[in-house]
Amino acid sequence: MPTTSTRGALIVISGPSGVGKTTIVHKVKEELDAIFSVSATTRPISDRETDGVDYYFITPTRFEEMVQTGAFLEHAEVFHCHRYGTLKEPVEKVLEAGKSMLLDIDVQGGMQVHKNMPESLRFFILPPSEEELFRRLTARGRDDADSIERRFSEAKQEIKLARESNAYDFFIVNDNLDLAVAETVAIIKKCQDTAQSTP
Ligand code: ADP
Ligand code: 5GP
Repeated sequence: MPTTSTRGALIVISGPSGVGKTTIVHKVKEELDAIFSVSATTRPISDRETDGVDYYFITPTRFEEMVQTGAFLEHAEVFHCHRYGTLKEPVEKVLEAGKSMLLDIDVQGGMQVHKNMPESLRFFILPPSEEELFRRLTARGRDDADSIERRFSEAKQEIKLARESNAYDFFIVNDNLDLAVAETVAIIKKCQDTAQSTP
């Protein structure tokens, strides 16, 4: 069985909707040969998404059953309408196998992971400005106008909560994408090196 230092790292990436989390997570995943944790959600699937790849799209009844059986490492209701959760079992398997696991989750989830797995590395991604965040939410072309407004107005509260919660060790500004990815990867590698050299 791997020792603590050869266990993979659990890496949490949070930030307001549209800031670039999905983009960053997939680039970090490539660079570190890490695994992306596919969450379960009660949100409807969009025509750009694939079930089992982007999320496991499940019913509210099934989600509640999984909460009751303790299947989630963390779970939360996001934007006061849909539930999202990280499956415990795949995370444990990946970490035990010595690989790193990437979680793209909201601040409520980040706070739960901070409490339950304090050895995790938790990043919060910030936009360079509010205007740029609104532009990215719109440019993505995925959400309708109401959803964009809701996500934009939630952003300020989410940033405030992230700062006040103390759940995040690292705040990264995603202005230049390549620099934001490089900064994130460098921090993860440094933390892994430190963990491996600690007896
Ligand atoms: P999130 O997962 O945080 O909701 P996405 O990764 O879907 O955000 O990114 C939202 C939009 O912003 C996408 O169109 C993406 O290509 C774009 N984007 C991400 N990072 C940058 C950046 N540094 N500069 C400009 N556009 C970006
Ligand atoms: P979206 O609907 O844009 O895919 O995701 C909305 C929000 O839900 C994002 O902030 C994303 O980070 C968060 N999210 C996705 N999966 C999970 C999860 O498993 N747990 C929690 N707590 N949040 C999640």
